[in-house]
Amino acid sequence: MAKIINIIKGTKDILPQDVEQWHILESKALEIFSKYGYKEIRTPIFEATELFARGVGDTTDIVNKEMYTFEKSERSLTLRPENTAGVVRSFIENGMARLSAPVKLWYKGPMFRYERPQAGRQRQFHQVGVEMFGIKNAAADAEVILLAVNYLKSLGLCDLEVELNSLGCPTCREAYKSKIKEVLKPEFDNLCEDCQSRYEKNPLRLLDCKVESCKEIFAKPEIQKVIQSDFICEECAAHFEELKSYLDKLNVKYTINKLLVRGLDYYNRTVFEIKSNNLGSQNAVCGGGRYDSLVRNLGGEDTPAVGWAMGMERLNSLLPVPEPELLDGYIVSTSPADAFELAENLRTLGLKIEFDLANKKFTKQLEKASKVAKYALILGEDEIKSGTVSVKNLSTGEQVAVAKNKIAETLK
Ligand SMILES: [Zn+2]
Ligand SMILES: [Zn+2]
Repeated sequence: MAKIINIIKGTKDILPQDVEQWHILESKALEIFSKYGYKEIRTPIFEATELFARGVGDTTDIVNKEMYTFEKSERSLTLRPENTAGVVRSFIENGMARLSAPVKLWYKGPMFRYERPQAGRQRQFHQVGVEMFGIKNAAADAEVILLAVNYLKSLGLCDLEVELNSLGCPTCREAYKSKIKEVLKPEFDNLCEDCQSRYEKNPLRLLDCKVESCKEIFAKPEIQKVIQSDFICEECAAHFEELKSYLDKLNVKYTINKLLVRGLDYYNRTVFEIKSNNLGSQNAVCGGGRYDSLVRNLGGEDTPAVGWAMGMERLNSLLPVPEPELLDGYIVSTSPADAFELAENLRTLGLKIEFDLANKKFTKQLEKASKVAKYALILGEDEIKSGTVSVKNLSTGEQVAVAKNKIAETLK
């Protein structure tokens, strides 16, 4: 026998018995997002490497350590590690800035990051997300948060917690960054390696470090005083207040988390995460924020934007496994040709029908029907002569003779 070729580490088959759950995530996305006026966009899985270096930020782990980058025809290409950069590229390239604002886009699909396997993460994973372009008002931030909450609720995830923070604008954030650096300077040698390397370029990222010894340092009163201080300027503060008042009005509960900075470089003002307490443990299921300078950084006109992404594997892990879908009918017959003809007729009428293709015995066919279908459609010699079918309800055992042209009605 030939040698078996195995699946690549960090990737996973989505098998037929699991795909129904994915269909639910996708169809609910289409249903809920279109209520808010979002249109789906599908961008390529690979893009110029530079797009992510500039779009995601070259101080992030994603760009520094996790990208799948390869050369082809002397161009450096990268499998997308996230989709905001690609959507922004498409927004610019297709002149969507000329459309009347807001432009609301959503996407779903696979992303690729070379992450350590012990983190339990997959290297090919899936995200669903939204991006809204053209609105700087906090109403936009409130709407995308509400959209996320409603999508999660539609999937049956309850017990949601929204965490909010404002990172300010480049102006007010600079002063905050220097304060953070200043207060952490005496502790520099005690910080973890990652924190030390981020200290100069991206000191805010230190705040979401998960290393225990770093967390202890940040908990010191003199450092907490700086972290908890209100550093944002008047305009940023007004924006944040406006967002909070919308959420209050719409009964979206939230907490302010000053340590929430998100892993990406491009956010300004609003950042948020949504956590779910489904199945007992708390899990972050959604992360997003405002990125008003990204379109300009990628060569477009100044365009405010706000959006979020959710990991679909994580969502699936929190949802109950749906019951497998049954066929409407399974034809049990001693005449394959007649069964074939009846199956095709009923399929044309919109029913899900199968019949025995393997010439199995009548009793075996009936056994199969009881496993895969709601009704057994019995087409024996008597039925063929009289132009009827015996329709057996497989959950109640009830059986009735039905004229061939009335079967669809009966099953529906
Ligand atoms: Zn500001
Ligand atoms: Zn650290």
